[in-house]
Amino acid sequence: MGRLIYLDNNATTQMAPEVIKAISEAEPVVYGNASSMHSFGREASRLVENARSNIAGLLQCNADEITFTSGASEANNTVFMIARSLIEKRGGGRIVTTTIEHPSIIETVSYLRKCGIQVDQVPVYADGRIKLDELEKLMGKDVVLVSVMTGNNETGAIQPVAEASRIAHSYGALFHTDATQAIGKIKVSCKEWKLDYLSCSGHKFYGPKGVGILFARKGAPFMPFVHGGEQEHGRRAGTYNTISIYGTGVAAKLAMENVEEENRRLWKMREALREGILAKVPHVVVNGCQDHEFCLPGTLDVSFENVEGESILLMLDMNGIAVSTGSACATGSLEPSYVLLAGGLDVELAHGSIRFSFGRFNTMEDVEYVLEVLPPIIEKLRAISTR
Ligand code: PMP
Repeated sequence: MGRLIYLDNNATTQMAPEVIKAISEAEPVVYGNASSMHSFGREASRLVENARSNIAGLLQCNADEITFTSGASEANNTVFMIARSLIEKRGGGRIVTTTIEHPSIIETVSYLRKCGIQVDQVPVYADGRIKLDELEKLMGKDVVLVSVMTGNNETGAIQPVAEASRIAHSYGALFHTDATQAIGKIKVSCKEWKLDYLSCSGHKFYGPKGVGILFARKGAPFMPFVHGGEQEHGRRAGTYNTISIYGTGVAAKLAMENVEEENRRLWKMREALREGILAKVPHVVVNGCQDHEFCLPGTLDVSFENVEGESILLMLDMNGIAVSTGSACATGSLEPSYVLLAGGLDVELAHGSIRFSFGRFNTMEDVEYVLEVLPPIIEKLRAISTR
């Protein structure tokens, strides 16, 4: 087998060795149901609570403000359903979100609209950041919830979350952020940003898959999305995914310890790749925000003129390099990325986009290898392009 380089860390990450060690030690011995009253249950519950307190440390909130879910998708859905029930209870109201959210919000918005609920979407600038003045214009006392993601999964653009939160609160609305892509890469603080709700997912920061985290500020309205049990104080039914929750807690501790150093390291690799591509490949557009302060450090989204992103992806894959076109969640569809189109990118360029996303296990040698392999691929594809 030749070289294998994983540059799709925004889709998911490899588990950290520390996480693998912790869960493989716990798995054979901790198998009780964390809700059971006997010693087996208490031991399982101890692991869940250990994770909850690590995660509270990472997100700067209290442990009892954390609810475990199956993923960020479920956490996002829960928050929007809370808003729906508030609107129904009050006999009116609106939700305001953005045009660049993850599909777990975008498609929930479509569903809520079909149910007769008004949802307005804030547009973005070409750099992928939301237009705060448009958010202000959309606000009114009837807005129940404002939801703005922390960092975009495709362009990496970091959103002005603290400002959006302040605007939402000044109109009496609740504020939610989907911080799934930001955890472990930039400092995220429920307290400093005065959040009412936050969603994220352990598998994006080197934890196991299938564990989501929903922060809900103490006193913020809450309605369960999954009914049928008293787990999580009645907030989310279903037997605890004990071992994976425990692993997520271990990952949270690592993310907290390494955030600044990891940010610098990822940005260095990302910038080396960006500069290398611009130097070696003509007719390229780098998408999204290019300012370190406003960019998820490991995300680089590039459009190659006159080539299909899918063809590039397949050729890179044949050379052992894993990347994504737009969002991994859109795999299987050849629709251009709605996130890039929302930023005003030309449809043809959106079709030719590739997302490289770096993580903890990448090195500068990976960048060098991509810069060796990629330019001839683009040249070859352009030579046979019918576009
Ligand atoms: N929000 C964002 C910004 C994401 O990138 C993702 C994962 N692609 C999700 C939500 C959904 O996370 P999960 O698949 O763990 O539910």
